[in-house]
Amino acid sequence: MSDIILQIDGKEVAAKPGMTVLEAAQSAGIAIPTLCHHEKLEPYGACRICTVEADAGGRTSFVAACLYPAEKGLVVRTRTEQVNRMRKVLLEQMLSHAPDSEDLLELAGEYGADPHRFEKEPSFCILCGLCVRYCAEVKQKHAVSFFDRGAKREINFIPEIAVKECWDCKECFPLCPTSALQAAYVLTESLLTPPEEPSSCGGCSSCG
Ligand code: SF4
Repeated sequence: MSDIILQIDGKEVAAKPGMTVLEAAQSAGIAIPTLCHHEKLEPYGACRICTVEADAGGRTSFVAACLYPAEKGLVVRTRTEQVNRMRKVLLEQMLSHAPDSEDLLELAGEYGADPHRFEKEPSFCILCGLCVRYCAEVKQKHAVSFFDRGAKREINFIPEIAVKECWDCKECFPLCPTSALQAAYVLTESLLTPPEEPSSCGGCSSCG
């Protein structure tokens, strides 16, 4: 099949059929920020930080580059004023949940995002789902999962599976953009560690 020709930031880019805008941009050396993307995983489109402006069929819209297919004649702009503004607000919202995330703070610097704009609601997780999807899609273990809905949604390890699988794996740990995962694992681990057996002598007063 012949290549698809589209335009990204004024540059003509040849993409393979089936590629997304993000993949086409990356193949042409054009950087688009991502937080929930991983090349081994199915596109997810959770963080929206890869939002770009795209002209197709006479319409301009804002699309997630990690999901949007590279199409013939598509015109994409990755760093317009509006795109930058959207990314800035998204980062400010995510930083209210994970104020110490180095990945987020680095992007905040690039986009002029104010880490203190929104009231802090530290859950330390931005729900990118990288750990959940990596464990399910690559490791096929399902040792970590989403729980609850809406504002209460969070990730947690499934203790019975985690205790068997995670100790020798830990492959998802470095994927976490906020380090929330390690903390969740330490907590799970502590819940799974049986309390130490009391020694035969409790040091009570009856020994005299
Ligand atoms: S460390 Fe545990 S949760 Fe993470 S990928 Fe490995 S098995 Fe899955």
